[in-house]
Amino acid sequence: MTIPTGQSLYIGGQWTASTATDTIAVVNPATLEIIAHATAGSAQDAASAVSAARKAFDDWSQTPLAERIALLQRVSDGIKGHGDELAGLITAEMGCPIGFSRAAQIGLPLGDIHATLEVAKALDDKTIGRSLVQNDPVGVVAAITPWNFPLHQILAKIAPALVAGCTIVLKPSEVTPLDAALLAEIFHDAGAPAGVFNLIIGGREAGEALVSHPDIDMVSFTGSTRGGRAVAEIAGRGLKKVALELGGKSANIILDDADLEKAIPAALGQSFINSGQVCAALSRLIVPVRKRAEIEAIAIEAAKGWTLGDPADPATRLGPVANQTQQAGIRQAINGALSEGAQLLTGGAEQPTNFTGAYVSPTIFSGVDSRMTIAREETFGPVLSILTYADEAEAIRIANDSAYGLSGGVWSGDLDRAEAVARRMHTGQVILNGAGLDLAAPFGGVKQSGLGRENGRYGLEEYCSPKAITRPQA
Ligand code: NAD
Repeated sequence: MTIPTGQSLYIGGQWTASTATDTIAVVNPATLEIIAHATAGSAQDAASAVSAARKAFDDWSQTPLAERIALLQRVSDGIKGHGDELAGLITAEMGCPIGFSRAAQIGLPLGDIHATLEVAKALDDKTIGRSLVQNDPVGVVAAITPWNFPLHQILAKIAPALVAGCTIVLKPSEVTPLDAALLAEIFHDAGAPAGVFNLIIGGREAGEALVSHPDIDMVSFTGSTRGGRAVAEIAGRGLKKVALELGGKSANIILDDADLEKAIPAALGQSFINSGQVCAALSRLIVPVRKRAEIEAIAIEAAKGWTLGDPADPATRLGPVANQTQQAGIRQAINGALSEGAQLLTGGAEQPTNFTGAYVSPTIFSGVDSRMTIAREETFGPVLSILTYADEAEAIRIANDSAYGLSGGVWSGDLDRAEAVARRMHTGQVILNGAGLDLAAPFGGVKQSGLGRENGRYGLEEYCSPKAITRPQA
């Protein structure tokens, strides 16, 4: 996929030239080569896209549900048909190992569509009290997304929004515009009516122009807590509905009856997968103090399985991070942890030998204290911190001692015991004994991790505005 030269907007069913001149260079983080250029959409371009989405809204919102579902099914087929190309683009844009790209970066968006279509009947009218309750679509939605699971984060928003009857202006991350451009082609080929799906390639300026536009009814944002706060402030002035999926510093509690040989290697995976660039990464490992030495030894051994490699090689498990800015931030966090007294078990901030790209060695700290910056701030890299507790109550207190509340994990030999601990964690979801992501279940955070939920029925309801129609009593 190359973005048509000079054209960075898919508006009203066609590719259109940007009115701006600023260009975005798309850089392969493994090689640092520029693989594409795009023109950054301007505020004026954002307004054109909103106007197209507004124009399409009346018809699309009245289109029978079956037709809206059928469009998403054709888009799902298109993603499957272009799966290898999409996976290759994502690997080139942000360095995700190709095996994981094919499995997760393509599997998750397909799962997002499937999970949405499974619950589409939740849109049916209901009788509540004496009233008929109709689920109206919220309206024109601005979807603003990050680069770490680029297609998943897009589909987690636009699949439910479109099924609910909303129209969309998508502004993907400027780091990963190529997969989004191919998605626009897929929508085109799937016969999406003009203006139902619109794409603006651009950065913060285009994003802010969308959020502040009076014809945007809802902003669904996934990204950093800093970006989310800016978006919420602008949207608040227009009293727009806002959904925010933000950062995290999630805790993984190892209870004293857990099978350590199983739990600790798996816990490394829960922190290092996608080079740790996962909002729900379990980056704080909270372990019984009596078992600290044993756990450190298992962790050091398991880290040897996370070797760095070329992301285009199907054998690679750990690729580069997304770009050199990310790399610099992660190195700074590692150096900060060292200066605050954390004990380095493996890894470190140096450029890994034999790699010139944006690589960071998988890094594990022990002796981490809840007050240290590495335990409080999101690192968004392959960096795991081990903290210790004396008893279960302290483990829960440490887990909840965070400004964030996105995800969490508990490992135990007894699932009922694990669940009892999970119930006391102040977070949006908790994974027991390494269970995989459940796309039917709500996903989202509390505290600084965000507002609202994505996926399944809860995700669909975010894009609905329930209207009560009440008749006089007979
Ligand atoms: P980011 O906040 O820099 O950018 C995210 C998107 O918002 C991009 O499209 C960007 O152009 C846009 N943007 C940034 N500032 C904006 C503003 N003021 N107004 C409008 N748009 C703006 O985040 P990122 O670096 O792309 O992604 C990494 C972050 O995303 C991490 O903090 C991670 O935890 C978070 N994230 C959260 C989830 C979740 O579901 N909770 C999922 C993935 C990533």
